[in-house]
Amino acid sequence: MQVLDKVRNFIDKNLTATVYYPHEEMKKHTTFKTGGPADLLVEPGRITELQQLIQYVRQEKIPYLIIGRGSNLIVGDKGIRELVIKIGKKLSRCEVKGEEVTAEAGAAIIDVAQAAQAHALTGLEFAGGIPGSVGGAVFMNAGAYDGEIKDVLEEVLVLTVSGELTVRKKEELALGYRTSLMQKNGDIILQAKFKLQKGDQAAIDLRMRELKQRREKSQPLDLPSAGSVFKRPPGYYTGKLIQDANLKGYQIGGAQVSPKHAGFIVNTGKATSSDIVNLIRHIQAEVKKLFGVELETEVRIIGEF
Ligand SMILES: Cc1cc2nc3c(=O)[nH]c(=O)nc-3n(C[C@H](O)[C@H](O)[C@H](O)COP(=O)(O)OP(=O)(O)OC[C@H]3O[C@@H](n4cnc5c(N)ncnc54)[C@H](O)[C@@H]3O)c2cc1C
Repeated sequence: MQVLDKVRNFIDKNLTATVYYPHEEMKKHTTFKTGGPADLLVEPGRITELQQLIQYVRQEKIPYLIIGRGSNLIVGDKGIRELVIKIGKKLSRCEVKGEEVTAEAGAAIIDVAQAAQAHALTGLEFAGGIPGSVGGAVFMNAGAYDGEIKDVLEEVLVLTVSGELTVRKKEELALGYRTSLMQKNGDIILQAKFKLQKGDQAAIDLRMRELKQRREKSQPLDLPSAGSVFKRPPGYYTGKLIQDANLKGYQIGGAQVSPKHAGFIVNTGKATSSDIVNLIRHIQAEVKKLFGVELETEVRIIGEF
């Protein structure tokens, strides 16, 4: 029996709230709208079922990958042979109690920021335009406009590589610029608790609107992308380096350096993931040649090309 058939059988027998999709086109799960088929994509319906699934695949030594909303991912055009586990809408409960907001990993961080605003809680305004999940935002320590997850996170509930549910405090998570402990230890983020502060609802609303307008003005939000492709190298602005290398608007296949924001690559309609990765490599080579600066990708590249 094929390994992934074994996973399907296990789910059919044991996990009533979990759904799976064979040969699932990953372009449906990435904001770049590119990427070939995953042999099997599973969306767990409960934390307990995810725990059972992880125990099973570990015991059977079946490799897997975790994804959230696919807003920081490039998936190869030949797709993914590992089991893909999507922490999505089925695990997206969000609860506000006093100044604490607890959200499951599949909740959209934008929805969590809006829930905070609705309860006159300040601290998450910066996240009002980040199109990822809570899990992805914690994993990446996402940030914008002088705010980052690290500023407001209190603790996370994770499923460790040995299959245990553990609460980890913020101080243990090694959160830094677009980095976290989870990028190293393979913990799956299940839930995050944010500690916010009472604020003025109108002021929070105004700040969120302002930031939305700034994004709309400066970012190519009308075309598929994964936001900033590269991390900011110390002492430089990525967009300026790319612009100074004369690459604004430069195109390979359907992938283009956004004429609006040189730090973004956009899918102009028919881009493949290979077009995007080839463009990334070209930008890295040019910027290195001209300015001696190594650009490291912020987006994560997975699957087969
Ligand atoms: C238009 C646009 C604007 C953006 N603006 C910003 C911005 O201002 N600031 C910013 O920081 N980012 C920004 N991003 C990038 C992206 O939204 C963030 O990196 C986001 O946090 C990724 O979340 P995700 O759920 O989409 O993760 P995915 O892209 O699905 O996954 C990213 C990584 O996180 C891991 N992961 C996801 N969920 C879990 C989990 N539950 N447990 C363990 N690992 C997990 C995956 O394995 C993968 O390695 C932008 C993207 C777009 C498209």
